[in-house]
Amino acid sequence: MEFVTLNDGNKMPVLGFGVFQVDPKETQRCVEDAISVGYRSIDTAQAYQNEESVGAAIKTALVGGLKREELFITTKLWISDTGEERALKAFDASMKKLGLDYLDLYLIHQPYGDIYGSWRAMKRLKEQGRIRSIGVSNFYADRVVDLCENSGVIPAVNQLECHPFYQREALKHTLEDYGIAFESWASFAEGKNDIFKNAVLSGIGEKYGKGSAQVILRWLIQRGIVVIPKSEKIERMRQNFDIFDFALAPDDMAAIAALDTDKTLFFDHADPERVKWIIHAFDK
Ligand code: NAP
Repeated sequence: MEFVTLNDGNKMPVLGFGVFQVDPKETQRCVEDAISVGYRSIDTAQAYQNEESVGAAIKTALVGGLKREELFITTKLWISDTGEERALKAFDASMKKLGLDYLDLYLIHQPYGDIYGSWRAMKRLKEQGRIRSIGVSNFYADRVVDLCENSGVIPAVNQLECHPFYQREALKHTLEDYGIAFESWASFAEGKNDIFKNAVLSGIGEKYGKGSAQVILRWLIQRGIVVIPKSEKIERMRQNFDIFDFALAPDDMAAIAALDTDKTLFFDHADPERVKWIIHAFDK
């Protein structure tokens, strides 16, 4: 495994395993499979409602002899629990579900609500050693600059939509200016735009004896971006893990760069209607 050194000195695997939209009933099996394949970094969230199942898989791994420090566990704070006091409570609830006494990475999931209160709580938890690294997700450049300039604590990571059709080059430069690691969600665009059959990606894959999924992950890692692909199928988990024995040539990197449409395939975090929708997504 290759690692990126975060701006707080901690090391994070460049390849992890995501469990968004994995049914809680399937999550334990998926995470156990992923760990058996070799994944050590697992990305979940309060909002995915599968932290307990991730925790059960971690327990199996630890009982099986894996050391806690070999794992890198990420979870995220949802909008409804932002603010200093609520964030502390939500963190405790996540940790109980995960069965952990410390967390590797805690992210503010969305750039809404009392993010400054949450950030103070996260800073405190980091100082207490309960979280090793703190970061954000879905923060656009303006939000990143505001948080960095006004809170005095630079996030270690920003997790964002990023795939061949939405490459985020300008935002990547802002993150580099602050030394923030860029982590990609939906590296495969969740299969949209028939990405796995894209002629450019599969054509490049043929040259290296790899599939489109492997080409995409390799391209992201070569851009310095951390990846957390999701799959419920162990064979695909293996494919997605098998990306460290080849390197894309500069002309192949350039051919993929040309696929950028500079548009989200999911949602624009600055669109008022979508913002309203996501803030109320879990209202009863
Ligand atoms: P993704 O990784 O882009 O795509 C997952 C899809 O690709 C699934 O349908 C999967 O199907 C398929 N797939 C995986 N490997 C494949 C392969 N080798 N060949 C063909 N198909 C393959 O989507 P994602 O789950 O949205 O993103 C990854 C992770 O990022 C999430 O799980 C989550 O941890 C995180 N995330 C974060 C946010 C955020 O707001 N911070 C938002 C979305 C996601 P099967 O499962 O059937 O194999």
